Amino acid sequence: MLKISKPHAVLTPFPLQGHINALLKVAKLLHLRGFHITFVNTEYNQKRLLKSKGPNAFDGFTDFTFETIPDGLTPIEGDGDVSQDVHSLSESIMKNFHHFFSELLAKLHESAIAGLIPPVTCFVSDCYMPFTVKFAKEHALPILLYSPCSAGYFLSSYYVSKLFQTGELPLKDKSYLTNEYLDTKADWIPGLKNFRLKDLTTLIRITDPNDLSIKFATEVGDKCHAASAMIFNTSKELENDILNALNSIFPSLYTIGPVSSILNQSPRNHLEYLDSNLWKEDTECLEWLELKEAGSVVYVNFGSITVMNEEKLLEFARGLANSKKPFLWIIRPDLVIGGSMVLSSEFLKEIADRGLIASWCPQEKVLNHPSIGGFLTHCGWNSTTESICAGVPMLCWPFFADQPLNRRLICHEWEIGLELDTDVKREEVEKLINELMVGEKGKKMKKKAMEMKKRAENDTKPGGCSYMNLDKAIKEVLLTKR
Ligand code: UDP
Repeated sequence: MLKISKPHAVLTPFPLQGHINALLKVAKLLHLRGFHITFVNTEYNQKRLLKSKGPNAFDGFTDFTFETIPDGLTPIEGDGDVSQDVHSLSESIMKNFHHFFSELLAKLHESAIAGLIPPVTCFVSDCYMPFTVKFAKEHALPILLYSPCSAGYFLSSYYVSKLFQTGELPLKDKSYLTNEYLDTKADWIPGLKNFRLKDLTTLIRITDPNDLSIKFATEVGDKCHAASAMIFNTSKELENDILNALNSIFPSLYTIGPVSSILNQSPRNHLEYLDSNLWKEDTECLEWLELKEAGSVVYVNFGSITVMNEEKLLEFARGLANSKKPFLWIIRPDLVIGGSMVLSSEFLKEIADRGLIASWCPQEKVLNHPSIGGFLTHCGWNSTTESICAGVPMLCWPFFADQPLNRRLICHEWEIGLELDTDVKREEVEKLINELMVGEKGKKMKKKAMEMKKRAENDTKPGGCSYMNLDKAIKEVLLTKR
């Protein structure tokens, strides 16, 4: 009897925590729909995953394998549990990854010939790994490019990168980088008329014509045009005007978000235990949350890349302590620039009855815990969408990349968040935490956040538009011959 092999998707995240998490969720959704999965991590990240999860953590998942490629960077000294520099990674991706990836594909091809795995039939790649498109073309296989960021950020980067071709950017020098410039409306970008330049990609601040980010952004835009289609972790509900604008540039576009909500509503399966934490999770914080009243705890987490100086950390610390609200604060070992923990033992004693500090947590479980009432966040897109899926309002302190734009969506378009000033001060932290947790604005935001959660669930359950878009993307793109 003729044996029909499974479709085989190769997934390639940009090698940073947020991107790996985003792509792993898509990998799980494809696996649940019958795909054989090859998930490609860098050797550095895979080593960290195995260290945080244990050496056998990835064994025993049928039709789901992890493969590695080098990252082309100089090894980090010490225990290496730190996020690698985005700039160096981007540079190496442009320079080296094509070669590394071609070696991996040759290996997969040999395994397929030996009958060990099904032949590769499609690619699902992070759009910030643009080199993958060339391989799909060479092998005449379909490729979906996935944006792990908001559609708004993708759209703004696309438009702003064009300004380098017309000569309107880069800025001549830093003196052009005034508040007046940054407060200018970006109403020349369809779909972003309520956004200001300071909400957009940091490309608008560039003064050096040789800055690598210009080349990288242009390459990403070009390759997105060349891909079979794009998928976004968003929905009409979240970014309607933006998606309408984006659709006129990228007609083959599927919105499948919030992806967390599709997974939350999927039948229970063994892949639930597969996660991609590069730091070891502290699960005791879930037990601690059990002891707290419903909706009483502020959850504080700045994601995997944000860093701050000691001064800012201390402003947050004092503001949190002075708010007198219970809080769970995740302080990554590499959060504070150049240092380890700078909180004094007196401070830790003062907050001991209501504050818990941990170094990494199972964020989605924390956000969905009934004790959580608000989220002080750096507004990464995963954190933003995970907070929506949990119905939790936010206090926003963006750091870089897509985060300022996400803050604008959270606070102004959806009205489920409050903004903290970049130059954060303890008095403001205290005041806004109180507003978020017990103030009138906070109550309104909580109600809206719960309504958004409900609508996200409707979009992502069988028959909902994101759910159906995922099935369409699979049928119309991944399962077709090019
Ligand atoms: N995360 C986690 N535990 C933590 C901190 C973060 O599981 O203690 C996860 C979080 O759920 C999200 C990702 O790490 O999926 C962070 O991605 P995001 O886009 O929010 O921010 P980034 O780290 O890329 O800045």
